[in-house]
Amino acid sequence: MIVMKFGGTSVMDPTAIDRTAQIVKGRAVRRPAVVVSAMSRVTDALLAAGKAAGEGQREQALELARGLRQRHHTTAKELITAAQYAALAPELEREFDTLDELLKGICAVGELSPRSSDYVVSYGERLNSRIVTESYLARGMRATLVDARRVMITDAQHGKAIPQIDQIEHRAKNFVRPLIEDGQVPVMGGFIGATEQGVQTTIGRGGSDFSAALLGSALDAEAIEIWTDVDGMMTTDPRICPDARRIRVISFEEAAELAYFGAKVLHPATVLPAVQKNIPVLILNSLNPRNEGTLIVGRAPKSKATFKAIAAKKRITIVDVVAARMLGAHGFLKSIFDVFDRHHCSIDVVSTSEVSVSLTVDSNEAIPAIAADLEKIADVKYAGRNAIVCLVGENIRETPEIAARVFAALGAINVRMISQGASEINITFVIDEEDVPEAIRRLHKEFFAEADPEVFDTPGASSSETSRERAR
Ligand code: ADP
Ligand code: ASP
Ligand code: MG
Repeated sequence: MIVMKFGGTSVMDPTAIDRTAQIVKGRAVRRPAVVVSAMSRVTDALLAAGKAAGEGQREQALELARGLRQRHHTTAKELITAAQYAALAPELEREFDTLDELLKGICAVGELSPRSSDYVVSYGERLNSRIVTESYLARGMRATLVDARRVMITDAQHGKAIPQIDQIEHRAKNFVRPLIEDGQVPVMGGFIGATEQGVQTTIGRGGSDFSAALLGSALDAEAIEIWTDVDGMMTTDPRICPDARRIRVISFEEAAELAYFGAKVLHPATVLPAVQKNIPVLILNSLNPRNEGTLIVGRAPKSKATFKAIAAKKRITIVDVVAARMLGAHGFLKSIFDVFDRHHCSIDVVSTSEVSVSLTVDSNEAIPAIAADLEKIADVKYAGRNAIVCLVGENIRETPEIAARVFAALGAINVRMISQGASEINITFVIDEEDVPEAIRRLHKEFFAEADPEVFDTPGASSSETSRERAR
């Protein structure tokens, strides 16, 4: 069997959902289980509604909910038969009435707890998986809705809950596998889960990819397919650099590094479950389904290219900690890291000198409190609006003077921190957020202009195929 995950843009409207139905039908012999996100922008809207309610902006919250109610009705109506819609419409009404009540409740309390936020945001995946299931039934498929809360068991860290692998495996085998064995197509919402006690949770933004990988791993799938709106994992974000090329094959390690450092096409945790069972992950384009996409596997074939891709992660804060008494002392770094640890804040890049340490974090909210704690032991400065740029490739180890070439290509762009990962498959540096597009374009020109055709698509091939397909 295989798992097929469709992201927000692949299910953004009735035409897109219909397209996914055709894609799933085309794979029927491989016995697919489907994971779907909320329709595009729905999660953002739900988060905004929750936030507005928490701030007492009742009308604004309800207005956002009204827009979503309308969008879900219109989408469902267009996709399914009149009889199906007659049954589904009251259900949607009930769900959105409950959402309204919930938002009013949050407003009355004047506070949005992480637990309530998860409940609000769950509507996106819960309702879309319901609509997608009905639409597949209307297209002659034996689709069955699987409530993600019965399968994706997590801990109670709302907003970024940790999946409980053993529980998920157990439940997937009990609730999902029998459906597949019976020739049905299970359809489950991604991103959401529940604690063992049944309390709604979510596993982090972009988490539907992770849900798909967890399900695939739990069911020992032959492949995990991540369907999105680009031809695969590209040499860089095609929105920043239109010359970006599709990567044909990449290793789990390289893909994980790229995802972690900002390649939004894949959630960073996705490859973990796949690695453990050595299940290939494919990134495919629902707008161009005949394109072969990107294959992510344990070991990518040898290539001449030094780098596979460039990623960038914005909204990074640099924290500079300076203490003269660090000179010759030990235990100082530990006391600094302990402060970040106490605030549950993870550090990405670190560089040290005799008396100072600079580090980067991607959380802005926690910084003032962290700085206040650090000030007890050192002088502290922090600056937001930075970005981490990361070049990834397994051949870095074997390429001398590569860092010099990277920094020469950047020219006058000011580099604030540098680090070469311990895994030796990345070169990472920190620059001003505003310099990201220019830095990426320069690096892309330097390293991918004559890229190895065995590893990368020829220039322009992917985008022209996509636009041809789109024009149909
Ligand atoms: P989905 O809704 O399918 O989950 P996402 O928006 O999460 O889609 O991810 C797809 C987007 O990721 C693409 O439209 C692209 O702009 C962006 N992206 C960033 N870096 C890369 C990259 N290296 N390769 C491909 N896409 C990338
Ligand atoms: N809908 C969720 C989000 O926008 C999960 C996902 O799309 O992967 O973050
Ligand atoms: Mg995504």
